[in-house]
Amino acid sequence: MKFEDYRISDEIKKSLSKLGFKKPTDIQFKAIPPIMKGEDVLAIAQTGTGKTAAFAIPVLDRLQFSKNRKRGDGIKCIVMVPTRELALQITEVFNEIGRGTRVSTFCVFGGVEQGPQIAKLEDGIDVLVATPGRLFDLVSQGHIHLHRVEVLVLDEADHMLDLGFIHDIRHLITKLPRQRQTLFFSATINEKIKELAYSLVNKPVRIQI
Ligand code: AMP
Repeated sequence: MKFEDYRISDEIKKSLSKLGFKKPTDIQFKAIPPIMKGEDVLAIAQTGTGKTAAFAIPVLDRLQFSKNRKRGDGIKCIVMVPTRELALQITEVFNEIGRGTRVSTFCVFGGVEQGPQIAKLEDGIDVLVATPGRLFDLVSQGHIHLHRVEVLVLDEADHMLDLGFIHDIRHLITKLPRQRQTLFFSATINEKIKELAYSLVNKPVRIQI
């Protein structure tokens, strides 16, 4: 199966073609259809498998469609990640694949001043990629509202737990609408990760690469 054959927008197909992505990778082949149906996903996949595009493609397609119907009014998708590097990398993937969709993606992370991040958030963002600590601070200070979020992605969840982000994540979850789609990605799985995963997802499609 090629990306040409997917029921995704022409704008996204064009971006994928520009990036030289013709066929989905294994994780993309398995994850894109259930994500497009709105199902929750619990995926065990390492970096290098194409996992970023596995959630970026269906999320962008969904948001492009909803954006065409109604005006943007708040963050629709939160992607939680362990590090600044990963935040920047994922934002770039969303911006590359989402070129032509009018879906806007931005990232926030700790270790830098909040001011410029807050100013940018006021422009109106559809997808926010964030490390849990900085997201927690900005939400607590009222700079970010999570009540319009439709999709929550956790990427490298195992790494986020290793870095001690569990309390920030748990607190942030209480601010999200209960009715949402949750996509949980981890490179490894153990009891602690399973416990977090199953407290967040609802009847997930399980994928292991
Ligand atoms: P990731 O696992 O998301 O970090 O992606 C690993 C690498 O695979 C990145 O350099 C992507 O640009 C590339 N990639 C992702 N999906 C595809 C695809 N369908 N075809 C070719 N390259 C891809």
